[in-house]
Amino acid sequence: MATKTLEARFEHLSVKEENNNERNYGKPKASKGPSSTTTSMSGLGSSQSNSNRAQLLKLALQNTNENKANAMNVPPSPGKGSSALVTRNTDENGDQRTSSSLCDQPTVPRELHLGMFEIGKPLGKGKFGRVYLAKERSSGFVCALKVLHKSELQQGGVQKQVRREIEIQSNLRHPNVLRLYGHFHDSKRIFLILEFAGRGELYKHLRKEHRFPEWKAAQYIAQMAAALKYLHKKHVMHRDIKPENILVGIHGEIKISDFGWSVHAPNNRRQTMCGTLDYLPPEMLKQGAQDNHYSEKVDLWSLGVLTYEFLVGEAPFEDTPVMTQRRITRADMSVPSFVSPEAKDLIKRLLVLDPEKRIPLDEIQRHPWIVKHCVKDAKRSSCSSKEGKA
Ligand code: ATP
Ligand code: MG
Repeated sequence: MATKTLEARFEHLSVKEENNNERNYGKPKASKGPSSTTTSMSGLGSSQSNSNRAQLLKLALQNTNENKANAMNVPPSPGKGSSALVTRNTDENGDQRTSSSLCDQPTVPRELHLGMFEIGKPLGKGKFGRVYLAKERSSGFVCALKVLHKSELQQGGVQKQVRREIEIQSNLRHPNVLRLYGHFHDSKRIFLILEFAGRGELYKHLRKEHRFPEWKAAQYIAQMAAALKYLHKKHVMHRDIKPENILVGIHGEIKISDFGWSVHAPNNRRQTMCGTLDYLPPEMLKQGAQDNHYSEKVDLWSLGVLTYEFLVGEAPFEDTPVMTQRRITRADMSVPSFVSPEAKDLIKRLLVLDPEKRIPLDEIQRHPWIVKHCVKDAKRSSCSSKEGKA
């Protein structure tokens, strides 16, 4: 009952709205853009783009199951029917266009290539590449284009992970999971066409606000639970849930990102980047723990850590690396008194050593803390617009 209500509330949030929403991308047809980096993006959100915005999606979907020659020149894995979208070689500028374009032949688009996009301002820089705001020229579809350099991926030995990320993420469709619409490559680079998350990284919001008010934390956790329920149903464990891997859409809704990296090496990224083990569940810390020795319940533990960090401003086991490990294996943490008893109850039910005894996702969605903030305070947030229908 409550479960349905919550899911229904988040269902309406989609990238289509972002692409519909003119105020998010500047005035339509305002050619005098405010900065040199964004002038080429003028016209985003025009009515023409609204009518054509689905074309890129169509393109991506129509290409599914076609030639799966992939971006790293690795043969596609056998037995994965619909996993990867087609990629084709284009030259540096994407100039090897064939005759078709989205407008000319909307039903048989053949290629994705760089020339199809106007590149806008940089959105950020990751370890292996840069991400730019981009607009598909013929449809006006706004997205984020992630550019990865093949040589760097090779040096880092992460081709497999990238391939995994592409395979997994391109098959996921949920309002709280960042969409990967398609990908293509040229001789040096791989391009991922991602859903644009208009409000950027959740991590930055958390650092700025220090900690979130309970209503906001509860709504984020409810969205996380809905997304994880979807992922687990599809047998995808994220295994790397933390604020750094969550983006925020233009309506304030969260979008889980960064798939694939975590599948092969759950703890590598945080260890390399920040030297912290904060989000690792106890079963992953066990000596000799391997991929198949733990279940999707690892994400529940991380959700508990996330809930704590949202409310307190720091992770529950933050300490020296040795102490963090020791404390995780004992679930040794305390919740400060300013946290409400309901929130504390949820945290304690998630941070349980025995994975089988952690509160299941269904129950999280019905938990009093979640219900309290997502029903009564619905008008304050993205929860609200489907109230009454659910
Ligand atoms: P890593 O290289 O370890 O994955 P990262 O996740 O920060 O680090 P990227 O995924 O390449 O690296 O993203 C770099 C930055 O670009 C992000 O931190 C974020 O600020 C921004 N960004 C990435 N994807 C999007 C998106 N879809 N919408 C909006 N901003 C994005
Ligand atoms: Mg990332």
